Amino acid sequence: MACSLLRSLLHFVCPDWCVSEITNISLTELWQSGIRVLFVDLDNTLTAWGSREISEPVRRWIEEAKAQGFQVVIVSNAGFRGRVAQVAEALGIIGIAAAGKPRRYVFRRYLEWKGLTVQQAVMIGDQIFTDILAAKRLGMKAILVEPLTERRFITGRIQRPLELITLKLLRSMKLLP
Ligand SMILES: [Mg+2]
Repeated sequence: MACSLLRSLLHFVCPDWCVSEITNISLTELWQSGIRVLFVDLDNTLTAWGSREISEPVRRWIEEAKAQGFQVVIVSNAGFRGRVAQVAEALGIIGIAAAGKPRRYVFRRYLEWKGLTVQQAVMIGDQIFTDILAAKRLGMKAILVEPLTERRFITGRIQRPLELITLKLLRSMKLLP
């Protein structure tokens, strides 16, 4: 009983795929599985924490995604609209700051605006209690990347030990892909 309850709870923080970095994600596979929107976290997923600098491999990956026809949207909890907008503009994509993940609002709004379903979208991020949880609450696929740096916002620093315990638990219960 306790075990099945734990399992149902863990489902909400369990990514569908795990990769070491965003550039390892196969765009072709995502496209073939019907995905058309890539919601991408900013800090520690696209750039180092608090940075505006985009690495060349990440830039190429985003370019390739756009060329394949994906809509790419930065969904960041960072309140610094200027930085989110600047990175988004440099990549030629949409950027949403202060998204409030794990809240689902911005994802719903975007999908409604574009007339797309959650099955056509995926969330890519490094934090399970914001990025992955937001996606799973919505019934959306989620890809966990390893954080680019260990630096993070204060709330993230508090969450990290809990994240590592949760990941260990997911692994031991063979729930992680
Ligand atoms: Mg992040």
